[in-house]
Amino acid sequence: MKVFKTSQSLVEYLSIETRPLGMVPTMGALHLGHLSLIERAVEENQSVLTSIFVDPTQFNDKNDLVNYPTSIDEDLLQIEKISKKILVYIPEVDDIYGNIVESKSFDLAGLDQVMEGEKRSGHFQGVATVVTHFLKTFTPDRAYFGEKDFQQLLIIDHINRSLKLKTKIIGCPIVREKDGLAMSSRNRMLTPDQRNQASKLFEALQMVKSNAKKVPYRSLKTSVNAFFEKQDEITLDYFMITGPNTLKEIHLEQPVDQGRGFIAAYLGKIRLIDNLDMS
Ligand code: AMP
Repeated sequence: MKVFKTSQSLVEYLSIETRPLGMVPTMGALHLGHLSLIERAVEENQSVLTSIFVDPTQFNDKNDLVNYPTSIDEDLLQIEKISKKILVYIPEVDDIYGNIVESKSFDLAGLDQVMEGEKRSGHFQGVATVVTHFLKTFTPDRAYFGEKDFQQLLIIDHINRSLKLKTKIIGCPIVREKDGLAMSSRNRMLTPDQRNQASKLFEALQMVKSNAKKVPYRSLKTSVNAFFEKQDEITLDYFMITGPNTLKEIHLEQPVDQGRGFIAAYLGKIRLIDNLDMS
């Protein structure tokens, strides 16, 4: 396994590395969800690059940034178990931003105006800044992103197409714990009680899915609100069903034909998100 701290050394190395190159950007504190992306990249490419970088510009809440979990040594061990040939890029902030740590401004076609974009101001401009930097600098043939962050996946696919970058963006299914909780680096910050309650996000999405074709969307929303009012440990932030790939909320008075349900909720200060295809 080769670890690179600067993009310059990595770009030089990549000039002799065999193609196709698959890239998996992460913020570290790796779990089986991340590893599933890396495994898929290994299956589909001659060379694989994964990055571990907690991007400051995508955190609107500075406490969230300060508390974000890190476990570089463990992460490297897990990556090495998949393959010793994987390249790992672990930059400092200045390797990406220089002295001015701020995001660029991208036209995200309104995809950043709802849900995570609405709740976390500037988040997707930060994501777009760092991901386009990776795609332009390392020119991977394929880049892998999880459906866990479905809005992020659609936004990255949108910028990749609008900037006519050469990378193929590949969405990968959500990896879940046994009780259905979507794996997330933030799960390790939950108390044991909160962890027990956290599977309610998926439970709510499944409940919605099983009724989606039978009742109008408005009643599904009412049931989800009622479901979370009963949970002492969880506060619902939003629940929404949108068109499968549009992020536009579906009609309130109609049952769900096709669509994706999105949910965000707080357990104490920890904010978790999940989503589920309704078809
Ligand atoms: P993060 O480190 O949270 O930025 O995640 C890095 C990549 O892993 C993103 O593309 C995420 O969508 C993906 N990812 C995170 N959790 C999961 C999961 N449970 N299943 C599949 N992909 C995931």
